[in-house]
Amino acid sequence: MTGSSPRTAYTTNNVGIPVESDEHSLTISPDGPILLQDHYLIEKMAQFNRERVPERVVHAKGAGAYGVFEVTNDVSQFTKAVVFQPGARTEMLARFSTVAGELGSPDTWRDPRGFALKFYTELGNYDMVGNNTPVFFVRDPQKFQDFIRSQKRHPATGLRSNDMQWDFWTLSPESAHMVTWLMGDRGIPKTYRNMNGYSSHTYMWVNGAGERFWVKYHFKTDQGIDFLPQADADALAGSDGDHHRRDLYEAIESGNAPSWSLKVQIMPFEDAAGYRFNPFDLTKVWPHGDYPLIDVGRMTLNQNPEDYFIHIEQAAFEPSNLIPGVGPSPDKMLLGRLFSYPDTHRYRIGPNYTQLPPNRARTTVRSYAKDGPMRYEPSAAARPYAPNSYGGPAADTERFGDPAGWAAAGEMVREAYKLHREDDDWGQAGTQVREVLDDAARDRLVSNVSGHLAQGVSRPVLDRALQYWRNIDKVIGDRIAKNMNGG
Ligand code: NDP
Repeated sequence: MTGSSPRTAYTTNNVGIPVESDEHSLTISPDGPILLQDHYLIEKMAQFNRERVPERVVHAKGAGAYGVFEVTNDVSQFTKAVVFQPGARTEMLARFSTVAGELGSPDTWRDPRGFALKFYTELGNYDMVGNNTPVFFVRDPQKFQDFIRSQKRHPATGLRSNDMQWDFWTLSPESAHMVTWLMGDRGIPKTYRNMNGYSSHTYMWVNGAGERFWVKYHFKTDQGIDFLPQADADALAGSDGDHHRRDLYEAIESGNAPSWSLKVQIMPFEDAAGYRFNPFDLTKVWPHGDYPLIDVGRMTLNQNPEDYFIHIEQAAFEPSNLIPGVGPSPDKMLLGRLFSYPDTHRYRIGPNYTQLPPNRARTTVRSYAKDGPMRYEPSAAARPYAPNSYGGPAADTERFGDPAGWAAAGEMVREAYKLHREDDDWGQAGTQVREVLDDAARDRLVSNVSGHLAQGVSRPVLDRALQYWRNIDKVIGDRIAKNMNGG
């Protein structure tokens, strides 16, 4: 070392003790056995063995960034939620993801995309855990695990299986609208920046006077919708599997912060019972003609995480994080997710996941929770129970005691939703194919479906799939059948 070289900081172990070497284990003579007392070597090996947390069972592969949400319109007549009040500016975190692929899977596989948001409000964290589609494959959480298993790997081969996918979809006709989205251009966005995000679910908004409204959220990309044709996506899957993660990081790093404009559809509370579609059915949209989009604000993602694992891999979004002014609707899928998300976080990253940097509230937490693995913040309460006479927090029922809920009564049943007069499984999918797609997009849809069905889908699943498409649209179904029959 020369006298003028800057001295680099010395390495320590995890508790700050200087280590003797970055390169050599402690041995008896240079060629001799390693000693168990080399605590630094053992710490390195043991830490390495525990570096991974379980990957998410769905939405394992993703990318995310921090940003800000700014309100640009006045929707206070519909909700008192602090995040949506005029002029409000709220720090936030977003994570985008594929659904079925594992942590190392290519970003450009055909799949829905997760669109998960966390807003750090003064009344606690508000999460919206949506997708890049306004609808979903199933409408009852009883079928969710079955659906996901059909999209993942075959138990015998360990391979993904188009046969399992179409088997489940064709036996579950409520999937038709979502499958039409998935097999069309929206099934492979060009980048995460070029896709919309939708709450998909209906939520309830409550204003300052206690009046209730039903609401759906649409985050429209300001970069414009764009997609990858199947061949380009296939090529990228081989040449740049992290294409979408890279794109988001590099855009933000170069100062090209992507943004989305939030618009909502509002349905008056009383409309729901008599509306022509069941407004809480997750396989349906509310046509824009019935409930037009209303501007709310803009979210801008302008800060990459300083450490991907800490901030994105450990990010825990949960639709149950609803702040005053926002509540759930009777959407059965949403109600199932209110339980499922916090439960998976407790399993995946531990019961104290809300203390981790991406998940911790940026307001004072005064809960009575205590102990558990990896807890490092003391409880705010001097006594771990309520009520107590030692100055512990007390619920402010006068201010916050009015739950955003609705009345329900009746016998316990296991039954499908009651149909509204225009409810069916094929209608909105057919509208999408006939009235929304142009000729070129219809051609690509036919080509995408035919290509997918040609890979390992056996009879009778194939026959059911052709009938499924004819139910959506006779012309499209016939075109796919013609492709499959080779003539
Ligand atoms: P509209 O004509 O008012 O809306 C159609 C919407 O379809 C557009 O606003 C756009 O929404 C979206 N869209 C445009 N091109 C495509 C495409 N290639 N693939 C998928 N979506 C596309 O009709 P309706 O509201 O009556 O809905 C008709 C159909 O449109 C529905 O069955 C549904 O499949 C689809 N749709 C409806 C939405 C809704 O909430 N009403 C939202 C999105 C799609 P966007 O700007 O959000 O992409």
